[in-house]
Amino acid sequence: MKEIMSITHRAYTALLDFLFPPTCVACAHVGFWLCDTCRLTLKSSHRRADAHTLAATNFTGPARQLIHRTKYSGARDAAHTVADIIYDVCMEDISEHLALYPSAKLVVTYIPARTKTVRERGYNHAEAIAHHLATQLDAPLIATLAYVKDIPLMARTRSRAQRAQLLHKSMSSILTEPLSNTLLVIVDDVITTGSTMREAHRALSCDTTITPLGLTFAHTPRSTTQTK
Ligand SMILES: [Zn+2]
Repeated sequence: MKEIMSITHRAYTALLDFLFPPTCVACAHVGFWLCDTCRLTLKSSHRRADAHTLAATNFTGPARQLIHRTKYSGARDAAHTVADIIYDVCMEDISEHLALYPSAKLVVTYIPARTKTVRERGYNHAEAIAHHLATQLDAPLIATLAYVKDIPLMARTRSRAQRAQLLHKSMSSILTEPLSNTLLVIVDDVITTGSTMREAHRALSCDTTITPLGLTFAHTPRSTTQTK
């Protein structure tokens, strides 16, 4: 049944690509959300966005355009390209991290979306990215977190302290039992101050014995505009 659904999904995606082919967010080259040439212009990140989070690139130029297309233009399939880039850039670091826990099982999860966001966009883009990454990593994808209080969208002017205060105790684990001997990879699109990822770690701290690894597409340097 799962295989039939997968074939159906691939056929549907191929039909959509035929009718509405993706175009490169940076140069409008048809057939890609980010063509190979423009992909080479992505600014490399130092990859360690914080002690427990990796980022594939900086949140500038084509990286910013690709995330905006994924989040705000209904281009859900662009999440596939985002996941491919995370995988290609971060796979070595993920393998090194996994080597620290040789017997641990790898499981992928994602930062939840606010109900209003899902209602407006029709999907959680972090979940869409995580779905493709889980396939790449050959790991199961599970939902582990939910918001338990209403969080306003992060305005551009909010400070690091304000963001941390707003997010404090905003999430809760929805796991029915703790994850034993499991390295959990928490996927999000962009990391700015790290408040969201820290809140996810806090919410899951009682359900994980191994500190989860955060995996994000882009890192916003502190000096640039905050969008998340
Ligand atoms: Zn291009």
